Amino acid sequence: MEDRRNTGSVTKRLYDDDAYIKEFRAGVIGCSPAGDKAFGIELDMTAFFPEGGGQKSDTGRIGDAVITDVQEKDGHILHISDRPLDTGTEYDCAIDFAKRYDRMQNHSAEHLLCGIIHNMTGYDNVGFHLSDDETILDINGPVSKEMLKEAEEKANKVIYENVPITAVFLSGDELKGIDYRSKLDITENVRIVTIEEYDKCACCAPHVRSTGEIGIIRIIDAMPHRGGVRITILAGERAYRDYVYLDEANRQYMAWLSTKRLEGAKGVEQIINKNRALSEDNVRLKKELTSIVLDDLKKKLENKNDDRPVPVFSANFDDVMMRNLINEGLKMTDAAIMGFIGDDESGYKYIIGAKEDKGILYKGEYTDLPGFAKIMNGALNGRGGGSRMMIQGSLKAVRNDIEEFFI
Ligand SMILES: [Zn+2]
Repeated sequence: MEDRRNTGSVTKRLYDDDAYIKEFRAGVIGCSPAGDKAFGIELDMTAFFPEGGGQKSDTGRIGDAVITDVQEKDGHILHISDRPLDTGTEYDCAIDFAKRYDRMQNHSAEHLLCGIIHNMTGYDNVGFHLSDDETILDINGPVSKEMLKEAEEKANKVIYENVPITAVFLSGDELKGIDYRSKLDITENVRIVTIEEYDKCACCAPHVRSTGEIGIIRIIDAMPHRGGVRITILAGERAYRDYVYLDEANRQYMAWLSTKRLEGAKGVEQIINKNRALSEDNVRLKKELTSIVLDDLKKKLENKNDDRPVPVFSANFDDVMMRNLINEGLKMTDAAIMGFIGDDESGYKYIIGAKEDKGILYKGEYTDLPGFAKIMNGALNGRGGGSRMMIQGSLKAVRNDIEEFFI
């Protein structure tokens, strides 16, 4: 059979025939500068897959040179190297196969799932991105959650069937007779990757030999995208690692929740219900506490016949409770009302309210609240401020010192 591969390219692409070549020996046919301390190495043959079709390039070594990237430009495959290599010399080459194999598993998974979705809906994959931690594919029509679930289940069944995956280059005439998925308009010498019975797709990338090697496919996200759907999948060893991570996390949750392996949701539901009940209790208790303290304050204010400020200390009030209390109290008096929340050990938050036109009576004189805040902060190691009606802040002082400050 005529070899129709490598059209327009001087480098024989070993990965077209065999995606499992990890090491090979090749001759350097070109070496040119490619940026800062980088060189573009051309080989007579290569197993390095150059970046293309949504998949990143392989990495590895040519001799002692580290190859960090492989780019194809005008039919030339440039291996981006950290050092120059001698043209005309042969080198032992090795690709980082663990990384490559992970991509093969995920790329083949993408073909399988897209082929199944295409057969179910007629929609095509119009976008593909395969990075080191996720595989994203865009389908050009809406696919329901139920359909995606069905497609995922079907794809996993095809994995169990261990169906062969093959790649061949076909001429224009040969292509006329077959139905295949393609993102490009090329009609000659197209590499067709076939998953027997399930999919035919034009693709230049290396794939696993059979669906069994994909291991597992899981759709981990699906969201509307440009009238279609954007799907994120995990397959192969990545999916296994993800499972290990989730299972270990689940063990921790089980220990915290004291639940059986698959009953974590029930445990979480119980906690949510308990939390809701506690929140309701909390609201009720706060109301009760506020009314007790307010009754006490009202009694003090009823018997009051001067404008000296009234202190209220509490370890359990929150800011809202204290502000409400102060506003209620101010309806009954012209004196400022001073709320202190906290204890001697951690200090006190203060919220002080006063009539805007009066301010606070301190050492026999009326002072506006912002001015008073400065005096108090200075005397009691505090910070904070506010308006003429209310100031708020904190003091690093004990109750005794605070009380003495006002005498
Ligand atoms: Zn592909």
